[in-house]
Amino acid sequence: MTTEILTHPSRIKVPYTWSAGETLSRFFKALRDEQKILGIRCPRCQKVYAPPKKTCGTCFVECSEWLEVGPSGTLLSFTQASYVSPAHRSSKPFFGLIRLDGADTAFFHLLGETNLQSLKIGIKVSPVFAEKRTGSILDILYFRAAN
Ligand SMILES: [Zn+2]
Repeated sequence: MTTEILTHPSRIKVPYTWSAGETLSRFFKALRDEQKILGIRCPRCQKVYAPPKKTCGTCFVECSEWLEVGPSGTLLSFTQASYVSPAHRSSKPFFGLIRLDGADTAFFHLLGETNLQSLKIGIKVSPVFAEKRTGSILDILYFRAAN
């Protein structure tokens, strides 16, 4: 006699540790220890990546020239979450694409102390750093309109 094997869909939670790697570790350490935002320049095309990349996505050469960017930048685009999620620190947060001063790439982060009426593409924004920093992207709590 054979037994019919039944299945039940479910979810499992698997804790893991993600390695930031050499390049992002240096970036996160500067955020944590110095409240500095680092970028890296491609030696061939001179593009400055912030956050930094080990390899230029255009030239495929290793980037090695570190430099400080920002901390202020220009808001390139923004949106507001249209739903509430436990992953959000606030209800329906704003997100922005920010080109930090001295960088050529966009930086994606939360926008705070703001509302839909005050956000405009092209405004200057600056970071608000967490008081207790741990070496993660959330060492920057959010960006807000610069004074
Ligand atoms: Zn390049």
